[in-house]
Amino acid sequence: MYLSKLFIPITKDLPSEAKIKSHQLMLRAGMIKQSSTGIYSWLPLGFKIMKKVEQIVRQEQNLIGAQELLMPTIQSAEIWKESGRYQDYGEEMLRIKDRQGREMLYGPTNEELITDIFRSSIKSYKSLPQLLYHIQWKFRDEVRPRFGIMRCREFYMKDAYSFDLSDEEAKLSYNKMFYSYIKTFNRLGLKAIPMAADTGPIGGDLSHEFIILAETGESQIYADKRIFDIDLDKYDFSKRSLEKMREDFSSIYAVTDEKFDEKKFDKLVKKENQIKTKGIEVGHIFYFGDKYSKPLNCMIDAQDGKKIALKMGSYGIGVSRIVGAAIEANYKDNVMKWPKAIAPFDVVIIPSISKNNKENLQKAIKVYNELKEQNIDVLLDDVDENMSNKFKKHDLIGVPYQIIMGSKSSSNNLEFKELNSEIEMMSMEKIKSKLKKK
Ligand code: ATP
Ligand code: MG
Repeated sequence: MYLSKLFIPITKDLPSEAKIKSHQLMLRAGMIKQSSTGIYSWLPLGFKIMKKVEQIVRQEQNLIGAQELLMPTIQSAEIWKESGRYQDYGEEMLRIKDRQGREMLYGPTNEELITDIFRSSIKSYKSLPQLLYHIQWKFRDEVRPRFGIMRCREFYMKDAYSFDLSDEEAKLSYNKMFYSYIKTFNRLGLKAIPMAADTGPIGGDLSHEFIILAETGESQIYADKRIFDIDLDKYDFSKRSLEKMREDFSSIYAVTDEKFDEKKFDKLVKKENQIKTKGIEVGHIFYFGDKYSKPLNCMIDAQDGKKIALKMGSYGIGVSRIVGAAIEANYKDNVMKWPKAIAPFDVVIIPSISKNNKENLQKAIKVYNELKEQNIDVLLDDVDENMSNKFKKHDLIGVPYQIIMGSKSSSNNLEFKELNSEIEMMSMEKIKSKLKKK
């Protein structure tokens, strides 16, 4: 892609409510635009990044056998009345009436709707277990939308639901999701800590939040940094191994401030391993048994002929919030560097261009075409602008690698730079092989 053709409306004017880095940067780099309070349009650069996040989340869900479907954003109030949550959800729920006067709502989550689909389709234990998910917009009329897309009203979420016959089977589904979440965040290049959480209004008895370390987070966290040393590869998909994995994570100290006990922390965690910082919740998983299946009468014929209410769990990941959280976790010294897996481009070519010397641009186009042939997603900064402005702009856009074509680069010895590191001279061959390794 040529930068001159790309729709990136870079702006310097920031609204006063843009207080944290990710919000400022996403507006400045033209990734999002607010359309009304807590509601945003995703412009091409931001959208591309969000789609990359979505794709990784999807692949990892598919890998544990979850099946994708798509439920609508608008739901009928009826099923929410059946579960009893129509009242309980309160003002966070956006309620709508259609022309027939029927009560509808914009879904803030989908436990009721998925249970309704399930109860009318699955009758026998033979079809279990099932893991279903969708990636869809949600609406929550937050009291105080803030931090841009991190706490907004309309946001993009992956939500999965598990259906099992017994608590024991359901725990296996829960553990598979737990595993998948750790793997997903690793692939996204983000360090997420699983923390035992209160189950809150969703109810039930097993719940974990996944929290990314970032000083601007809303939760205060205390953890032992050895939690990052647990190697997922040592577990397999057997019941025992997955249970052991969750125990291993749980055995390492990691809590939010509600559960913090300083004496315990100092006793259990060596000074040099202590992490005391803030964090952003990017995922949340719950096991709640028959909390919804009972009132919604989602029953199944068990092997002995008895009718059993299904045991369910739900599992959310804030796909759109992750884009902001990745900025908060990676922004340093006025430079944004995207994790490679979700970077908007693999590399940017930055030639110095002047009106009377277009030769450098021609050379850059040659390099551009050569990289394109290798399926490398490359951005060419073909804008006629001085180099210092260009560098500032690319510190903002955050493409992790740069090829700088000034006076020092020759056709097969190029100035190559990883953001936040020194420039190296590198041959085309070496650049290609470096960029292909992702
Ligand atoms: P929070 O405590 O941050 O309000 P929650 O517990 O209400 O989150 P869940 O219902 O578990 O969130 O939703 C799953 C995920 O959706 C969260 O982990 C978060 O990443 C994302 N999410 C929730 N609310 C918002 C929001 N208002 N804006 C953007 N993302 C959100
Ligand atoms: Mg909430």
